[in-house]
Amino acid sequence: MSNEDEWYQLSSAETFEILKSNLNGLTSEEAKDRLREYGYNELSFKKINPFFRFLKHFNNPLIYVLIVAAIVTAFLGDIIDVVVIVGVVIVNASIGFIQEGKAESSIKALEEMMVQECTVLRDGEKVVVNSRLLVPGDMVLVESGTKIPADLRIIQSKNLHADEAPLTGESLPVHKNSKALSDSDLPPADQKSMVFSGTFITQGSGRGVVVATGESTEMGKIAEIMKGTREIVTPLTKKIEKFTEILVVSIIIIAIVNFAFSMWFGFGFIYSFMASASLAVAVIPEGLPAVLTITLALGVKKMAQHKALIRKLPSVEALGRATVICSDKTGTLTKNEMTVLNIFCGNKTYHISKTGYEPEGDYILKDKVVKVSEEGEELSETLKAGLMCNNASLVKEDGHYKIIGDPTEGALIVSAYKAGVTEKSTRMDEIPFQSENQYMATLNKGNNENWLYVKGSPEKILKMCKTQMVEGELQELSAAVSTVADEMAGEALRVLGFAYKPFPSDVTKIRSEYLEDLTFLGLQGMMDPPREEVKNAIERSRGAGIRTVMITGDHTLTAQAISQKLGIASQEEEVVNGKRLSKMSDEDLYDNVEHVSVYARVAPEHKYRITTQLQKRGEIVAVTGDGVNDAPALKAADIGIAMGITGTDVSKEASDMVLADDNFASIVKAIEEGRHIFENIRKVILYALAANGGQGLIIVGSVLLTPFIPLFLVTLPLEPVQILWINLFDSLFLALPLIKEPKEPGLLNNPPRDPDEQIVNLLFLRKVGLVSLAMTAGALSIFLIFGMPALNNSMNELLINQAQTAAFATVILVHVFYLVTARSIHDSAFNFSPFSNKWILLGITAILASLLMIIYLEPLEFIFRTTAIPLDWWPLIILFALPGFLVIEVEKFLVKFIKRRKIG
Ligand code: ADP
Ligand code: MG
Repeated sequence: MSNEDEWYQLSSAETFEILKSNLNGLTSEEAKDRLREYGYNELSFKKINPFFRFLKHFNNPLIYVLIVAAIVTAFLGDIIDVVVIVGVVIVNASIGFIQEGKAESSIKALEEMMVQECTVLRDGEKVVVNSRLLVPGDMVLVESGTKIPADLRIIQSKNLHADEAPLTGESLPVHKNSKALSDSDLPPADQKSMVFSGTFITQGSGRGVVVATGESTEMGKIAEIMKGTREIVTPLTKKIEKFTEILVVSIIIIAIVNFAFSMWFGFGFIYSFMASASLAVAVIPEGLPAVLTITLALGVKKMAQHKALIRKLPSVEALGRATVICSDKTGTLTKNEMTVLNIFCGNKTYHISKTGYEPEGDYILKDKVVKVSEEGEELSETLKAGLMCNNASLVKEDGHYKIIGDPTEGALIVSAYKAGVTEKSTRMDEIPFQSENQYMATLNKGNNENWLYVKGSPEKILKMCKTQMVEGELQELSAAVSTVADEMAGEALRVLGFAYKPFPSDVTKIRSEYLEDLTFLGLQGMMDPPREEVKNAIERSRGAGIRTVMITGDHTLTAQAISQKLGIASQEEEVVNGKRLSKMSDEDLYDNVEHVSVYARVAPEHKYRITTQLQKRGEIVAVTGDGVNDAPALKAADIGIAMGITGTDVSKEASDMVLADDNFASIVKAIEEGRHIFENIRKVILYALAANGGQGLIIVGSVLLTPFIPLFLVTLPLEPVQILWINLFDSLFLALPLIKEPKEPGLLNNPPRDPDEQIVNLLFLRKVGLVSLAMTAGALSIFLIFGMPALNNSMNELLINQAQTAAFATVILVHVFYLVTARSIHDSAFNFSPFSNKWILLGITAILASLLMIIYLEPLEFIFRTTAIPLDWWPLIILFALPGFLVIEVEKFLVKFIKRRKIG
């Protein structure tokens, strides 16, 4: 700035002069040049040094155990073990680091998909651009619901109010206007002639010129505080982390007891210590939290492919458990491609041919094409009212007509154009449409007077009218009009009524008391076809135990007709309207909310009430919304879903998920994906804990059995380094591929999971217990079968070492066999194709190949204390590993059998 004054102190003219801009904004040429000069309008995020992120992965109780083990081992002079332990620690941290990085980058990619757009004037034309491309001097149009994309000096305003809580912490909306202020040193909260990046318009409309972008905005100045890391935890991952913490503590206690027993049985200190340390390492599923995070991140990416953009990770979990979807009608269940089909004027109903936005079509009265200019004046006035009382625009892009703005209003432009009514006069004032008002009004310049045009729901409009125009003559308003409106609504049409009134030309502002004694002009009924895929999606979600509830501001009969078409409600089911809802107490609503599926003529606050009462009933509720006033409902919902196309910035900000295509069917796909993610997470947990549990039981079992089995006095069946190896390779090659497990058929055929379900439940204990027992029995038997002869053979060391190696191989094979059946929690491994998850096949191949290398390659044998075993031992090893597979298959069979018996 060249002078001392602040932007809010300057007049519009001075502002324009400094910014070299004007009321029509910049040319696209100029905007491009300035972008080069000022850079993108964005805040850069501070990056955490990757080295510190890496270090963070050592901050883990298990790592401490390992480090203590390494130090003790180092004192004992066993360098190889130290190297292995340190190696494991580093590799483990690296895996966690890489996975976290991957998870974060996919979440960042998602954030980038959620671009903020804004409407600006470029070359004097309204265009929608990515907010990153804004430059100082750009003229930005804002309206209720807009998130301000940069700091703006207001140039025009109409009842403009902004919520500046993100900047000032003050949640009451502030009135804004274009008047220059004389005070200096005002804090942003008092700069009434400015709106700031990151705040929201709650009411009214206006335009402002960009004075600062990116880091130079007020928000940019304080953004330092907000530059944090992204949270990638959900209630479930938190639960798992808690669970692992408890597990770690209990394991350390068991390890200490194990150590005491071991000393008592006469093992040396070193041996007892190593056995106990490896026990701890064996049982603790160190890789689990990282695996879960990456599962979530991958799932979120999948959802994005299905047009559901997750804004808050915890909602993924809620999605998988959703029991009710409360959906808007217009645009979500329907296409939001409005075409006016019928116009009722005077006493006649005209039909308009052709659907879509192309302004070509005929007006038909009783099977005859008519000329609108030759019909009664009320017809052309109805069309004129629709054209003037309108904020949308019809544009042609690549030969296709498109609506910018509200499709309901777009349809009115098309119906007017089809009749050759195209002229608009200057607008003096406006009351913008708000869902809860159900009308919009404008004041337009006429020849000698100004004309008030009002459009809105027929009920609202008819209440404002005393007279109506029939064949160009004023008459008393007939009761027949509202009957016709109901008939049109009954045919699933969205109906708008139109009215007008002349005022002296010195009246230039609309006052609310002007909205009476109007003259009714006509009705326009528009068709908004249901989306094709929605009916099927509703049916599928019903099969999944999820109820769909329609909440709409539209007419009761329109809502009912559409809900029947979509199979949401049957003909007998009653529709509750806003009037009745307002009279219902929360208790009444609580009693009714379980069986009502259609709410019509509701205001946004009703949506909030319905949501909270459903939640009181224990439902997990997904709610859609697009308007500013939907924000409370979206926030209250378990899953708040904003519309990507028609949604206001405010609703998006309040949501957990944004639907890129506004489509109801995408919600159902996201729910399916949510369930899929949690099935896979359950599979991974069950696999990892059973596999780890088995190893722990082997150690504890052999220590406790020592007094009875002399061979254990010589050595334990597994060496600590071997356990470390199993753990590391296991989580890498066997647990990780499980997260790529494809959807099982019938994911949507079951009711949602119980929200109170615990991680440690009967199913969990059963599976973990069975596999642990099978693994312990298998490995110990193999060790004894091959190792016992050594006792009679003057302690043949080679033989004992071979027996150990055989036990090690058995443990790995149990893991592999168990993995094959762990791919499904309830279904037999014989029911799905071994090839449907190629990652599992790859992982198994990798682990078997490395097993063979460890056993048969000399340098590795040295490190891992293994020895080549005779080839003819393998059949027996495989035989003793097989129960790891069989016990789970039998368990699944029995569970199914019992279930069927119960049902039958
Ligand atoms: P929906 O749930 O279908 O989106 P809205 O809350 O948007 O319903 O609209 C409620 C009613 O207000 C509509 O049935 C219609 O009669 C009227 N209406 C809708 N859009 C407009 C508009 N742009 N101008 C005036 N009235 C409107
Ligand atoms: Mg709407």
